[in-house]
Amino acid sequence: MPIEIVCAWCRRDIGTKEGEALCSVSHGICPECAQKVWDELHKRKSQMEEEQKTARISHQEINTCSVFNTI
Ligand SMILES: [Zn+2]
Repeated sequence: MPIEIVCAWCRRDIGTKEGEALCSVSHGICPECAQKVWDELHKRKSQMEEEQKTARISHQEINTCSVFNTI
């Protein structure tokens, strides 16, 4: 039976596919939203990399703490 695919971001109909599913609607992503999400991910990734640079020392402290705890 055909499953309706709806964009999880803008709720737009993307199309249908054949297959078995627990519900008749599957969530996908339309090309427009995929582009938006991709841009957002890139922004967040560069932000996280900046944060990691400044937070590297505290990360190492946490790692050594957990090593001591396992011993
Ligand atoms: Zn969309």
